Formats: sequence, C-alpha cells, structure tokens
Amino acid sequence: MAVKGSVPYDPQNVFARILRGELPCNKVYENDYVLAFHDIAPKAPIHVLVIPKAPYVSFADFSQNASEAEITGFTRAVGQVARILQVDGPGYRLLSNVGEEGGQEVPHFHVHIFAGRALGPMLP
Ligand code: ADP
Repeated sequence: MAVKGSVPYDPQNVFARILRGELPCNKVYENDYVLAFHDIAPKAPIHVLVIPKAPYVSFADFSQNASEAEITGFTRAVGQVARILQVDGPGYRLLSNVGEEGGQEVPHFHVHIFAGRALGPMLP
C-alpha cells in the first residue's frame, strides 16, 4: 500500500532495516549522509536507489526538515553515484515517488536512478 501523507517515520521500514544492517543490500556507494544500492526489482538495466541515512519519510519531509549540509551531501552523492555507474555520459533519469498519489511504497525518502537504455519520454 502506498505511503499516506504526513505519516511519522516507521523505523521498521525495509530501508531502515538495510541501514541498520538487518537486511542485505547490493551497495554501490556510501558516505556519511547516504547509502546507494541496486534496486531488488530493477525496472531498467541500471536501477539504483539513493537514500539518506537520516530518517526522512519522503522528499516532502526531507526538503522541509533536512539541514543544508544533508541536502547538499545528498544531492552531491546522487551525482557521484551516477559517475560511479558511468551513466553521466549516456544519461539517466532521476525519480522520487512522494506519498500515496505519487506511488511511494517504502516510507524512507529515496531517489531512483534509472539508466542503461534509452528511456524515452517521461511518463506520468
Ligand atoms: P515503487 O515500488 O512504486 O517504485 P517506491 O518509490 O517506494 O515505490 O520504490 C521502492 C523501491 O524499493 C522499489 O523499486 C522496490 O523494488 C525497491 N525495494 C524494495 N525492497 C528492497 C530491498 N530489500 N532492496 C532493494 N530494493 C528494494
């Protein structure tokens, strides 16, 4: 079921469990602010998720409540992950689903990086 708006952070969500080391992930990159790992059900040849280590429910929560250092650290890390994946040349797509109507399933803010083929026009 998709994430409803303004929910409190659920420390049992799957990404929180990955951050605590309770569940495995296929890690691409990590620093003080973020963890990036391959999506378990990839929807493109390259499908990586970038998540902040701090507990934010969604982009809405992150954009309002994260510090400037966290926002800068996260943004720079997304670019760094794209470079690590060597997709900044051919290009890639960033996506973050927010809340129920945005189709967000996991209630921990994450940005999807899709790449590895021509992705075509953006779909709603
Ligand atoms: P949606 O599932 O509609 O894309 P989200 O934007 O919340 O909703 O994305 C959650 C993503 O997390 C999905 O792409 C899903 O495949 C991925 N995912 C779920 N569990 C894991 C896991 N244990 N490891 C890696 N990726 C996961």
